[in-house]
Amino acid sequence: MAVVGVDFGSLHSKIGVARNRGIDIIVNEVSNRATPSLVAFGPKQRAIGEPAKTQETSNFRNTIGSLKRLIGRTLLDPEIEVEKKYLNATLVDVGGTIGTEVSYLGEKQTFSATQLVAMYLGKLRDITANELKTAVTDLVIAVPGWYTDIQRRALLDAASIAGLNALRLINDTTAVALGYGITKSDLPEPENPRHILFVDVGHSSMSVSVVAFSKGQLNVKSTAYDRQLGGRDIDYALLQHFAAEFKTKYKIDVLSSPKAMFRLASGCEKLKKVLSANMEAPLNVESIMNDIDASSKLTRDQYEELLAGVLDRIALPLQQALTESGLTIDQIDAVELVGGTTRIPAVRSRIQAALGGKPLSTTLNQDEAIARGATFACAFLSPTFRVRDFAIHDITHYPIKVRWEQSPSDPDEDTELVVFPRGNGIPSTKILTFYRKEPFDIEAEYAEPSGLPGGINPWIARFTAKSVPPDPKGDLTCVKLKTRLNLHGIMSFETAYTEEVEEREEAPMDVDGDAPPKKKKHVKKHEIPFVTGASSLDRSIVEKLKEQEAQMHAADKLVMDTEDRKNALEEYVYDTRGKLDDRYVSYVQSAEKEKLLGMLQEAEDWLYSEEGEDATKSAYVAKLDALKAIGDPIVFRYREAEERPKAISQLRQTL
Ligand code: ATP
Ligand code: MG
Repeated sequence: MAVVGVDFGSLHSKIGVARNRGIDIIVNEVSNRATPSLVAFGPKQRAIGEPAKTQETSNFRNTIGSLKRLIGRTLLDPEIEVEKKYLNATLVDVGGTIGTEVSYLGEKQTFSATQLVAMYLGKLRDITANELKTAVTDLVIAVPGWYTDIQRRALLDAASIAGLNALRLINDTTAVALGYGITKSDLPEPENPRHILFVDVGHSSMSVSVVAFSKGQLNVKSTAYDRQLGGRDIDYALLQHFAAEFKTKYKIDVLSSPKAMFRLASGCEKLKKVLSANMEAPLNVESIMNDIDASSKLTRDQYEELLAGVLDRIALPLQQALTESGLTIDQIDAVELVGGTTRIPAVRSRIQAALGGKPLSTTLNQDEAIARGATFACAFLSPTFRVRDFAIHDITHYPIKVRWEQSPSDPDEDTELVVFPRGNGIPSTKILTFYRKEPFDIEAEYAEPSGLPGGINPWIARFTAKSVPPDPKGDLTCVKLKTRLNLHGIMSFETAYTEEVEEREEAPMDVDGDAPPKKKKHVKKHEIPFVTGASSLDRSIVEKLKEQEAQMHAADKLVMDTEDRKNALEEYVYDTRGKLDDRYVSYVQSAEKEKLLGMLQEAEDWLYSEEGEDATKSAYVAKLDALKAIGDPIVFRYREAEERPKAISQLRQTL
């Protein structure tokens, strides 16, 4: 079974696989190690990943990115206003969650962000299956540590819709830490752990974690984030700067034309990368709009001035993570950087300044550390791949509480309890105790909603005990409720039960002896019927969406196969026609040649007719088969004649 880890990035995603006793980052269909996180819709098919990127400028309204930023959100979420700066597709409400309206197969269609992510994960699945030549189902997906229950559940739903089984959603920086720790053979004893501060600044967000490493284990001590700090903010600042400059310089309004904006944006990205290694960089955008070739330049100083707003925000999450870890900067053994945006010198110097001048290390692969770590995490959970044991003790970023109505018989009873405080270990199980006579409800929710991303609903799950058995003594019944924060960082109500303590006499061990029979306590559990609900999609809906996704996938495949057969026919026509006058000349009779040439001509005319331009796969296959029926015997005669001298000389040698 394949062992797969995915770094689901806001700009690009990377896929790791375990093979040849190690972890490889695999390449996609155009040999890139990162696949654009984009889904696009066209009149005939969808385009996902690389092909979506290729057609983005010409089909921007139907191309959608920011997938990981959208999933689990609602249209009214204030953070969606931020996303709109980076999106051209139309965002709409789809059954209470965010989605997009696109033109697909010639009609307006809407898809939820969960479906879009499912489409994208399906593409990553195909890339992996193609590389490994085996089916892919199990995987581990890395997510930002700031993802809430709703976002995590939505991502799991998306994986199910794509026919995938996410064994774990692992927090990004925890994946990085795992990849770091598992390769170290010199980790100290637990009493004296090594402390590493990890910083990831990507395209859209920044994550920091402090992790303690000792032999065979890692313990996440603290985490902090800026959900809105990344390379895209820098791209945006550059875009605004040059758009303003070109308004006076060329009298053009780049921001009024999405195409011009695309051209300028890609120029800005290039300039940004050049400025990471140079003190000055040119910007050249050919025919940006109105046939104007725009050009400009920027020095490192000007650049850093433009970025001041972004750079100024770097220190806060670093300080928060450090404070919360309870460590001083001197106790941090190393600072490890990952994420594309940490390549910017100004970003590095701000990180360093915030950490008291601490040296920064880049011993990890900045672009691939998350995918590698996620793949290790998958290997742990997979029965097929053996890895050295390494315990991952991760923590939850947001405190979770449960809430209930006061029991009528106990006016002093509290009505809420923080079950999993901030920093609680993942996974974790806790048993709650309630004294009740009647059926009762409990709600789980985040205890500090103001700390959650944007307008995300703090609600997590509901529990209803349908009936409570009477207590034998007529008291309130003691009900135990098992709650769990699982490996994905998702909280759920697992079981509810009452306990009955029985004292049973047990036969003494020595059969001949006269020791008195021992009394032993036995606890018998009686399950209480309950219902529970959370934000995950109903099974039936997942099944329906899975089927719909499979249909779209099959339709895309048919379009691709059709295109492939059409190309094969076209190629055969030109190739065979050329060879009939060349290498096949002495192996074809004139009548035969006449006939085949006629058929080739007819096929060519058909290919360029309205009918042949857009025919079915079987029509192309049938045409090619008809040509081959005549052509193949000629090819056969030619090949045989070619092979004969070789065969004879081989025969001579063996004789
Ligand atoms: P996120 O983690 O926020 O979801 P991501 O994982 O897709 O995003 P990364 O791949 O870590 O993001 O980083 C991509 C960002 O890094 C882009 O904004 C890209 O322009 C930027 N980047 C990459 N190389 C350089 C460079 N040499 N100089 C400056 N920026 C760079
Ligand atoms: Mg990332």
